[in-house]
Amino acid sequence: MPAILVADAPGLDFLNSVATPVDDPVDWISDGEGLLAWLEQTGFVPPAALAEIRTRSTPAELDGVAARARELREWFRGFVRKRKGRPLAAKDLRELEPLNQLLEQDQQHGEIVPNTSGGAASFELRAKRRWQSAESLLMPIAEAMAKLVCEEDFTYVKACEGPKCTLLFADHTRGHARRWCSMAICGNRAKVAAHRKRLKELENG
Ligand SMILES: [Zn+2]
Repeated sequence: MPAILVADAPGLDFLNSVATPVDDPVDWISDGEGLLAWLEQTGFVPPAALAEIRTRSTPAELDGVAARARELREWFRGFVRKRKGRPLAAKDLRELEPLNQLLEQDQQHGEIVPNTSGGAASFELRAKRRWQSAESLLMPIAEAMAKLVCEEDFTYVKACEGPKCTLLFADHTRGHARRWCSMAICGNRAKVAAHRKRLKELENG
């Protein structure tokens, strides 16, 4: 099943890597192979780096990293769910210490590459990462979570209003009127439910 990418913020897409798209919960990162597939689909890690890490790591190592990713995910879910709907405050930084510890292990470096974005200069400085071990798969995840807390206005971080839906998203719509993870999933469900209710009221009235 393809990853659900409806959050409009990669840090929240990561939280949405466990969800109940139909009836049963699906965890896209339930093991090492799942984690690799999810990282590829979301573009968090380049395919060449994934292929290299896969050949260099044992399945048990990859499963271990997936377990660590799930732990991080549920820790971060607690942070986000508690604070969504209002701006982050200075004191919230204390609770982000585990994330800062993880970011410390990141092996990023710059590289000058040809400019493909059509700017005035011929070259651009691109951030690259050393993929030294299976653990380094956690780094783009940590970066996405860090960007969420640094760049996103938590006032508009929302949970889908679908009664059984657990998906989170950043509401970037004008007027901030977004209510659903997606029209295709919960928006239509809500419309159908409202329609049924109206029909019932007509019958009974
Ligand atoms: Zn939903």
